[in-house]
Formats: sequence, structure tokens, C-alpha cells
Amino acid sequence: MPELGWAGGFTILTRDGRLVFDPDSTCLCGRNCSVFISHAHADHFIGLKSKPPKYSTQQTRRIFESIHGKPVENFFDIEFNKPVHVGDAEITPINAGHMLGSTQFLVALPDMTILYTGDINYTDTLTTVKAERAECDVLVMEATYGEPSYIFPDRESIYNSIVTWTLSRIAQGILPSFKVYAAGKAQELIRLFNTFTNLDVTTDQRISRISEVYSASGCRMRHRELSATRDGSPSVYLTADSSTFNGEEYARAVTTGWALRMNAKGLAAFPLSSHADFSQLLQFIRDCRAKTVYVFTGYMGVFADYVRRKLGIVSRPLPVLPQKTLCSFH
Ligand SMILES: [Zn+2]
Repeated sequence: MPELGWAGGFTILTRDGRLVFDPDSTCLCGRNCSVFISHAHADHFIGLKSKPPKYSTQQTRRIFESIHGKPVENFFDIEFNKPVHVGDAEITPINAGHMLGSTQFLVALPDMTILYTGDINYTDTLTTVKAERAECDVLVMEATYGEPSYIFPDRESIYNSIVTWTLSRIAQGILPSFKVYAAGKAQELIRLFNTFTNLDVTTDQRISRISEVYSASGCRMRHRELSATRDGSPSVYLTADSSTFNGEEYARAVTTGWALRMNAKGLAAFPLSSHADFSQLLQFIRDCRAKTVYVFTGYMGVFADYVRRKLGIVSRPLPVLPQKTLCSFH
């Protein structure tokens, strides 16, 4: 039975080494350590700057490099459904549906299978396909929205609300602007406006660079950078920095699952999320037929308790690995 838990990232100690998923720092000493990165959001990708061998999809690496401007060293590209082997562990990346290149990791050990989700979305979007499920003994999953009141409207109606609000602002002579995550959410909005409107989409430099990675990966999008000359045609503005499009000429909006319960003074707020909502998280557990569910991030305690009581599955927040366990391993 391997030891697993949180140790600055989800960690599995196997007979042959230490597997660390989405570490939260670059300080990863210790022999036989391998690092796996689930996706290119800042709270997951810091391990790409660490020394041990690193694994992620090519898209995740490219987005990271587009932000940091430097190549990742000691790195191995992985592809969905193509396993890699580290000691006696077989690790298979499978689609997480959260953003371009986002992956879960299915870890097959001699005596058990473990699925680590990273961040997942369990519904299709304009830029991603819903997370793939995989049967496993132990499921280690996120619970960002693991609270019963977080159930999102269907995506089409959210898309419709965003487009309607945007066009109505333009009809009033006001410039619509969205503050969004530069990676993932921005590209979903670009795709939305490209698909359902004729509006130009103006983006800041960070969003533009990441969108180019999406286009190069086959998810084409039309946008222009803020620095480009404006020709007076109607445009919607996307930025990762709220100060970029601030001022009376702009109507401001945000897109986040938290919009369901946020007090968005002066803002339009749409519950468009790249995470699974409460119902989807439960459905994902059922579909994976896990015997044990460990939960990290978000509503960990609330969600684990619900899973135990309503689904009758052993569940609790991901335990922290004792330091002495890690020290004895070094
Ligand atoms: Zn994420």
C-alpha cells in the first residue's frame, strides 16, 4: 500500500520514488522525485520551474512558456491516454476538460489505482470537451464548488446572457469589458464572441499570447491586441487586469462560478466557470466508482461529509503526509 497525501502538492510515495502532482513551490529536493503538472494555471504550474524531471502536456508547457518567456528544462511532453512509467507506477494522462491541455493523472500501482483530477470540468464548452472519467480505487479530487448551492445554469443560457448583455451595451454606446483569467476563460469568451457575434475582440498582451497557443493547437480564435489601431468597428474588451479598461466609457463584467453568490456592485456577473459544479462533482464520483474519495481545495470538509453521508463512500479531506515520512524517504 503506497503512502499518499498532501506534502506541498499531492504526493504518492511508491517503492521506487516520489511522485508529486502540482507542487506549490519549486523546493523539491529528494532523490527519485518526479513532478506532474495538470494544467497551466498559476496555482498549479509553479513546479515547472523546479529541478526534478517534469511531465505535462505540450499545450500546458507552451502556455507556461508564453507567460514566462523561457523554455522548461528537464521536461517530458505527455499525451492523453498514452501512459508513462516511473518505477513500478504507470501514469496515464486523461482529459480534465478544464482548459487547453488540462489533464488528470491515472496512476496504476501494483496494488491499486489512483486518479488525481487537478481541476476538472464535467461539461463541454466552446473550447474544451468534458473531463474523461476513469474507474479507480482512490479518487483524489478538487471540490472548488463542493457546496450544494453551487449548481450552475446550463452553459447555453449563460452564453446567451453574456452575448445579450454585450450587444445591449454596444447599442447604448458603452464599451463592454470583461475581466477574466488570461488562460482558459479568456479563450472561451473569444470563441463565444467569434461564434455568435461579428464583434471585434480586443485583448491585452497576456491574453493574446496565450490565445496564440490555442490557435496553434487547432482551437482557432480571432482577436486583436489592444495596441493595434482601432478602426471604429464595434469591439468587446477582454483583460486579465481590471485597471486596463477602467473608466466611464466601459461597462464592466466578470465571469466566474462565484457569481452565483457574489455581491457584484457595479459589475455584471455571469456564472461561467471552468470547474465542475456541485452536481457534476457528485456525478463524476459515481462514474469513477471510487471506493475512497480524498478531497482538496474549496469546500473540502463540506463536500467530503456530503459524499460520506449521501453516497456512502469513504471520504475525507486529503491528509497531510507527516514530515518524518518524507524525511525517511529522502
Ligand atoms: Zn485551474
